[in-house]
Amino acid sequence: MKGKIKNFIEFVSKNNPNEPEFLQAVDEVAEVIIPFIENNPKYQNKKLLERIVEPERVIMFRVPWIDDKGEVQVNKGYRVEFNSALGPYKGGLRFHPTVNLSVLKFLGFEQIFKNSLTTLPLGGGKGGSDFDPKSKSDNEIMRFCQSFMTELCKHIGADTDIPAGDIGVGGREIGYMFGQYKRIRNEFTGVLTGKGVNWGGSLIRPEATGYGNVYFAQNMLNYVGDDIKGKTISISGSGNVAQYACEKSIELGAKVVTMSDSSGFIYDSEGIDTEKLQFIMHLKNEKRGRIKEYADKYDCEFHEGRPWVIQCDIAFPCATQNEINEEEAKILIDNGCICVSEGANMPSTPQAIEIFQKSKILFAPGKASNAGGVATSGLEMSQNSLRLSWTREEVDVKLKEIMKNIHTACVKYGKQDSFIDYVKGANIAGFVKLADAMIDQGVV
Ligand code: NDP
Repeated sequence: MKGKIKNFIEFVSKNNPNEPEFLQAVDEVAEVIIPFIENNPKYQNKKLLERIVEPERVIMFRVPWIDDKGEVQVNKGYRVEFNSALGPYKGGLRFHPTVNLSVLKFLGFEQIFKNSLTTLPLGGGKGGSDFDPKSKSDNEIMRFCQSFMTELCKHIGADTDIPAGDIGVGGREIGYMFGQYKRIRNEFTGVLTGKGVNWGGSLIRPEATGYGNVYFAQNMLNYVGDDIKGKTISISGSGNVAQYACEKSIELGAKVVTMSDSSGFIYDSEGIDTEKLQFIMHLKNEKRGRIKEYADKYDCEFHEGRPWVIQCDIAFPCATQNEINEEEAKILIDNGCICVSEGANMPSTPQAIEIFQKSKILFAPGKASNAGGVATSGLEMSQNSLRLSWTREEVDVKLKEIMKNIHTACVKYGKQDSFIDYVKGANIAGFVKLADAMIDQGVV
């Protein structure tokens, strides 16, 4: 078996040179799916995995724009339309200087399995740009978004490919891109999700990834007879996912003691309460400042680096990929952490995951635990098609139900003698639905 997995990884690596993040994501899936295929003849001799690792289409384009000084700037734009067996391509857009094809292929690949897990009719895709929104004026952001969409609008559509937000792309950017799409295509459709609520957006969509992650953790804890109430939680990041993971954790009676950004983390031993969280939301969403200002205002600790050195019962990594390494995983376990639920995509390195799994703590991979965001995007698409808006309560009930169903699917395929292997469970549950659809649709 090891030989088969090794050969497959070598094959993917040879076909996709210099794409370490993509290979990391494929490796995790191959370790689980190749043995599964070996035991299930239905999935053999169809080159399913070989087909899944190859995107259906990759679009790369130039994004020229003019900055406030009147100088011409040029960025790279991408859309990876990875797999449409289960529905139109669906996945976010990331604007960050570290964006390249490897990062977007890893995100798009993960997205296929995640979207399959949601049980909604969604294919997988991802896109973005190496544009850095930090310290750009609103007008610069608008001009960039308009230029980006001028090209992207030729390739997407409400029944073809429906992008959403990700790192560096929030409500403001989605608004500028939607405006440009509408202007060029002359159609008001649900082509993007994460829209403003008074022009087609869904209630709870901004909250959904963070809330969904907390719901998933609560499902894991309940399954072993425990509860999130009274737990001390460490969160990384202070963007969209982190903010709402924090909000829901507070609401459910937990104490959140850390949040971070790329310059460091704050440690508030008293716990971040609702009022302090409002300060963070204003700081990050309106002022676009640094998390250190929280420590200055509330007279608590600020440290460079990542928050995993702080004692906690539960960790919610909600910033970016590979933000918990082996060393940090060991520190978390030594400090008594019992649950890690990934809000970000692939925040734990493979070595860190190995430590979590050997310790048999509750560990949820992002493709399961952060699927609430895309699931609610799916609900936004349904509301757009129906020309209806559901209430906050209706959407929240559906989100909770979806997270519960994803948990049940992970348990079904990941149950071991003494613990649940959520990585195995998520990958197999995601694969089965996808593979069945691919078989039904023939070799395309
Ligand atoms: P935001 O841009 O809103 O926030 C990102 C946060 O992470 C910021 O605090 C940012 O700090 C920090 N961060 C980004 N890059 C790094 C880095 N290299 N090192 C340290 N900190 C970093 O993004 P989101 O909250 O939307 O996304 C966070 C994660 O969640 C990503 O992995 C994303 O793919 C994933 N995700 C998001 C979904 C969504 O609905 N938005 C859905 C599913 C997954 P700074 O401000 O300093 O850059």
